[in-house]
Amino acid sequence: MEQSNVMKRQIMNKKGPNRSTGIINGECSNILNWDDVRFPWAYPKYKKMLANFWTPFEINMSQDMKQFPELSKEERDAFLKIIGLLALLDSIQTDYAGKVSEYITDSSLSALMIILAQQEVIHNHSYSYVLSSLVPKGMQDQVFEFWRTEPILIKRNDFVTNGYKHFAETPSIENLLKSIVYDVVLEGLFFYSGFAFFYHLARNQKMVGTSTMINYINRDEQLHVDLFVKIFKEILTENPDQDTQSLRNFVFETFKTAADLEIEWARYIIGNRIEGISIKEVEDYIKFYANVRANQLGCERPFEGYRTNPLRWIKAYEETDLGKSDFFEQKSRQYVKVNSDNGFDEL
Ligand code: ZN
Ligand code: ZN
Repeated sequence: MEQSNVMKRQIMNKKGPNRSTGIINGECSNILNWDDVRFPWAYPKYKKMLANFWTPFEINMSQDMKQFPELSKEERDAFLKIIGLLALLDSIQTDYAGKVSEYITDSSLSALMIILAQQEVIHNHSYSYVLSSLVPKGMQDQVFEFWRTEPILIKRNDFVTNGYKHFAETPSIENLLKSIVYDVVLEGLFFYSGFAFFYHLARNQKMVGTSTMINYINRDEQLHVDLFVKIFKEILTENPDQDTQSLRNFVFETFKTAADLEIEWARYIIGNRIEGISIKEVEDYIKFYANVRANQLGCERPFEGYRTNPLRWIKAYEETDLGKSDFFEQKSRQYVKVNSDNGFDEL
């Protein structure tokens, strides 16, 4: 099939309406008026993203500083490897979001992409912040090189970054859609065994400062996945010729491979070396999330069964409304206005 072009948004289009005529390849003046936008879900999403605002400076690392040297060698090792992984993924993600934004011909959705990119910058900052509190500078630098030096990480990261590269180098509607599938792998699956490890520490009252930060990141990522899923679906609605069986097969296969890579990684960093967490449960958890994400994209689930979260205890930690959670350090977050739009029921 010949690939359909996707055009960049103009800085200004005097003939275009403020309310865009299409999510991609549409007409749009590029003026942003939140009361005159094409997609009714864009403004509630904007409010949620702003309500999530946080910075690493809010997190008090003093307890974690005391505890880190007392962790087992395996725990410290897994801790640093996971931070090294997250640092690469969040760095790439900032740039990818910026690139997608250039091709969205809707000023409100491109604005949401810019906010998403800004949140990725904060995620990245948080890894430097944690490491500079816990380990000497030489070790911090080493952790930020893991993406280059750890073979298992290279294989796993290349899987996603090659998908992004295809779109960046050959922007077509098909490559944009496929890159969004990789995005959902990155933001909706590749973080999850790492998250599970930190929540496991937190449930044992270890490294609660770091886990609080991870919980903020987790909460942001849920909104990001939901945003990209919405964009994916709107592109298909507006370009029905792109909604093909071959794209569905691609989603199915991509999540299957992604889950295999994530499981390989989980065996390597968690294996049966971390007390109190079984690798079998983590593997089932990864398959469960691969199913959730494929289903969110409107495609067949890659793993038969795996319909419920096997890490039952983790639900309380994944709970994205911190107001209801007793596990993490409570910050003075009065500026977070909780209103009816702040529910996460659609996720
Ligand atoms: Zn992130
Ligand atoms: Zn994200």
